[in-house]
Amino acid sequence: MKILVIGGGGREHALVWKLRQSPRVSQVYCLPGNGGICEEAACLPGDPKSLASMLTAAHQIQPDLTVVGPEIPLSMGVVDEFTRRGLRIFGPTQRAAQLETSKSFAKEFMQRHQIPTAHYAVCTSEEELRKSLGLFSTPVVVKADGLAAGKGVVIASTKEEAALAGIDMFNGKLLGTPVANVVLEEFLEGEEVSFLVLSDGERVAALVPAQDHKRIGDRDQGANTGGMGAFSVDSLLDAGMSDWLLNHVARPVIAGMKSEGAEYRGILYCGLMMTARGPMVLEFNCRFGDPETQAVLMRLDSDLLDALEASVEGRVSDGVFKWSRDVSCCVVVASGGYPGSFVSGKQISGLDRASGLDNVKVFHSGTSKRDGLVYTNGGRVLSVTARGPELRDAINRAYEGVRLISFEDMYYRTDIGARALRALK
Ligand code: AMP
Repeated sequence: MKILVIGGGGREHALVWKLRQSPRVSQVYCLPGNGGICEEAACLPGDPKSLASMLTAAHQIQPDLTVVGPEIPLSMGVVDEFTRRGLRIFGPTQRAAQLETSKSFAKEFMQRHQIPTAHYAVCTSEEELRKSLGLFSTPVVVKADGLAAGKGVVIASTKEEAALAGIDMFNGKLLGTPVANVVLEEFLEGEEVSFLVLSDGERVAALVPAQDHKRIGDRDQGANTGGMGAFSVDSLLDAGMSDWLLNHVARPVIAGMKSEGAEYRGILYCGLMMTARGPMVLEFNCRFGDPETQAVLMRLDSDLLDALEASVEGRVSDGVFKWSRDVSCCVVVASGGYPGSFVSGKQISGLDRASGLDNVKVFHSGTSKRDGLVYTNGGRVLSVTARGPELRDAINRAYEGVRLISFEDMYYRTDIGARALRALK
């Protein structure tokens, strides 16, 4: 089979790597790919933000299945367009993807279907924002409605700070483009867990849990990023909690979407806060997360293609995934300055030595390749991912890989998985 993967980050590299292991896959294409993906797939020039560009590529290569990595093509309706043209594609339709693309839709949907989430108010103007702030205590969470690549959430310690953040979301100063709605949310405390399920529109199967590290600095200090690392261990959720989340979050979401005429197929990513009052949904994503995917797929022993096809063909069951007992850890290596401004084009050395380590896979997040040399090409550059029998082994292995790599102004967090390791002790 010919597979087309859309996207060009660490998540897509992990998807390409895993799909290539399927005995039924003869060729993997990736649009646009990156400096690491092009070692394992045929990279196609093109823009994942352009439907025309994706359709042209698909018409040329006639893939048997297209797998979409990032949210933007899903939000633009790539699944609707491909399906209309008879091209098989994995992921939710534009309407179903609203669970991620519109925070106000997601909050109202959760209220309609009694899915646990933080108290909230949707505000459409500065006046409404100031009035609604009276209903919340501080800290209060301010969220821009719409896709913001992890940059649309402000945790404000005073109401004035919250009002200013909300105003900057309305006028476009915070994100570059104005938003129509700002969501205020009760501040929740607890451990964050990413709970992912695969759905065929009716049935769901859970993936192993993972935890992302969103802040740029060690000990969760500093600005929010796309994700600086992740680990996956089963102990993040015990079996009872996994069942509870399937019954009280995942299944009601899938059934609710179906009852509203927006059947949801694909990966449903539930970002949860495990609070004293029980698990609460912080957000939904309508696709695999980055960098959790790198950590999660490192533990997948079964054929990823079988699972993705089960979603497309309406036959998801508990048996679609077989997981290794090993756990995993992924450390993101970034350009100095990220998530603010940074300089690309730095030559990267040590990749071969890091890749040569047992049980380590160096996924490329933002790189380019010229004349056999690999250069940085983005804020997040590499996702060094390792597996091992215990979390300590996976963490040590991942950092061993990271330390073999170097480029000017390279930056990484030194504490991925450290809190979980302390808790296990
Ligand atoms: P979101 O894009 O909604 O997942 O928010 C990004 C990050 O902001 C989350 O991963 C949390 O760390 C934090 N966050 C979002 N909502 C809340 C909340 N209600 N309480 C505390 N932290 C939150």
